[in-house]
Amino acid sequence: MPGIYLHIPFCRKACTYCDFHFSTSTQGKARVLNAMALELEQRATEMEGSVGTIYFGGGTPSLLEASEIARFMQDIRGRCSVAPDAEVTLEANPDDITEERLAAWKELGITRLSLGTQSFREERLRFMGRAHTAEQALRSIALIAKAGFASWTIDLIYGLPQMSLAEWDEQLTIALEHGMPHLSAYCLTVEAKTALAHQVAKGAVHMPEDADQSAQLDRLMSRMEAAGLVHYEISNFGLPGHFSRHNSSYWDGVHYLGIGPSAHSYNGATRRWNVANNIRYAKALEAGEPYWESETLNAAQRTNELLLTGLRTLAGVALYKLELDALAINRPSFEQYLAQGLLLVQDGRLVLTKAGRHFADRIASDLFVSADDRPDRA
Ligand code: SF4
Repeated sequence: MPGIYLHIPFCRKACTYCDFHFSTSTQGKARVLNAMALELEQRATEMEGSVGTIYFGGGTPSLLEASEIARFMQDIRGRCSVAPDAEVTLEANPDDITEERLAAWKELGITRLSLGTQSFREERLRFMGRAHTAEQALRSIALIAKAGFASWTIDLIYGLPQMSLAEWDEQLTIALEHGMPHLSAYCLTVEAKTALAHQVAKGAVHMPEDADQSAQLDRLMSRMEAAGLVHYEISNFGLPGHFSRHNSSYWDGVHYLGIGPSAHSYNGATRRWNVANNIRYAKALEAGEPYWESETLNAAQRTNELLLTGLRTLAGVALYKLELDALAINRPSFEQYLAQGLLLVQDGRLVLTKAGRHFADRIASDLFVSADDRPDRA
């Protein structure tokens, strides 16, 4: 079932590692939200069939007033057919969590809360430039655990400078002690043009060795397995019944509509992305001018996307779905990864082994087909 993503492009503070689109000024918030409502009105007819998932992401959607979330929910329900069991996720930061707000979000139809915790340690939160404190992180997870959402999840970051296995274990223990049904765990990466990239370039921050980050991923996998959380995507673990349906749709190539500055959309053939600038986005919508770019994917691009996203999942890539014979073209890489025990062919699917999960993106890109290699289809 198709999904709707709403990008709320505002944050209280800029986290040092973040390269998402957001503004730390909420001055133009009403104007941007109005423009998003207009975009939704204009594009709702693009949704074919019932909407199965709605995702408020960002940015920091928990900065919105309940009335602003209610307006989007009403607009979506008024303009699209929404499945009765639709998954509705809201990303929230710990500094926005109160019992009252959790109750209000539930009342509005939010079924799944995604908490941007990142760490329970004060010095780590300061290092990452997060707006919340460790005390707020601990308090918010306790409140969410008893708030009664159908599901909830937290984000944690590993691979931090000088992070020991003991520290990582401590983070996972805190989360598990609260009965966390889902975890998204990301290895810290240095994205271009971020404050972290600048700190690393001038030698103020030294990133850990790959071996340390790799040991933390191994520990993460074994701790989650022991707790019964399935490693269903490279960065995601969930108890059965708690996998993110919205994110799984991206990995399965399901269609989605992205609303808001920088949001991406996919209709099975064309990718489209909105301008990543709040004012330009709002102005263009108000003036009836284009605010997006798009590209229609060719068979090689579709095959490569399937390899990149599918190999990150537990289910892997169904070979029959590859429109081009990527494995025939890249036979040496394919054979090499099979021989190294990083890749398996199982029941007509290409899957990474546990060892292979450390190199998911590299393995996928080594199997990519290039436009020049494309065999002619008979
Ligand atoms: S709160 Fe999230 S979106 Fe905002 S700057 Fe931090 S990581 Fe980026």
